[in-house]
Amino acid sequence: MDKTLTHAQIEAAVKEAYQECKDITGGKNADYIPFLANIDPNLFGLSVTLPDGTTFNIGDTDYKFGIESVSKVLTAILILKQHGAEAVLKQIGADATGLPFNSIFAILLENDHPSTPLVNAGAITACSMVNPKGDSWGKWEAIINNITALCGSESEVIDELYKSESETNFNNRAISWLLKNYNRIYDDVDMSLDLYTRQCSVGITASQLSICAATIANRGFNPVTKTQVFDPQLAPKITTLISSVGFYQNTGDWLYTSGIPAKSGVGGGVLGVLPGVMGIAAFAPPLDPAGNSVKAQAAIKAVMKKLDLGVFNGDRVTVTA
Ligand code: GLN
Repeated sequence: MDKTLTHAQIEAAVKEAYQECKDITGGKNADYIPFLANIDPNLFGLSVTLPDGTTFNIGDTDYKFGIESVSKVLTAILILKQHGAEAVLKQIGADATGLPFNSIFAILLENDHPSTPLVNAGAITACSMVNPKGDSWGKWEAIINNITALCGSESEVIDELYKSESETNFNNRAISWLLKNYNRIYDDVDMSLDLYTRQCSVGITASQLSICAATIANRGFNPVTKTQVFDPQLAPKITTLISSVGFYQNTGDWLYTSGIPAKSGVGGGVLGVLPGVMGIAAFAPPLDPAGNSVKAQAAIKAVMKKLDLGVFNGDRVTVTA
């Protein structure tokens, strides 16, 4: 069906969803990274960016929180840009693991692939693939410049978070060396893990993430900076990765109930992409047992429901002022 939505309808849905979800309790801040345990659990922001660059922000959308696993999407885009879709499929894979984000078991089950760039194993491999090879500083510049281009403004590492994660990332060290054993780390192992840890520690706002989501929804064209950040052909590849594994072992339930491909991070952020229609991001620190923000999930679902949107609805959606 053809479906038309106005800016006013979308703005109203965002405001109502925020009001409905702001008092939701439940969930718990991530505490395996000590810094995250101390973030105010009441912070809550919701942001939608449309293909014409219009953004609706409500709540704590300027608060800089740890991007964590949402960064995996951004660096996946970088290696897709640098190496192409075929190489990423061959060197990492594009399959869901059906297991938690930090699963070692998943690597053992599929020992010749880290499965997908959107779980820890594949994301560390992705960092090992970033060019220029062997040059830690050059690789970091490529990663952070790509984040800036996608989000439309600069961001930087939260030093305390980076320190906290580096001091406690024993499981990720095990993952890195296991991958090395399977010849799936394509650069120095410690450097690759350090780049991964650093990218997870970048401070980002919900508003920046919704611009990034809109850039993906807009086939690589950032609607705020008006620049083509990546080849339009790569957009369906990245949305496929998000659809298949964005919520780890809960991804099917998420897509079934929300209707929108989305990626979460243990900092409490969620980025959702509705191709051609909008980018959405929500942030609230308390997480469910799989590591996905309770309130951010509720808020995004509420917006989708109010606007009767869904990636599989089969509607041709037009957004007008
Ligand atoms: N930096 C975190 C980790 O490696 C990211 C996990 C996440 O956000 N799901 O465990």
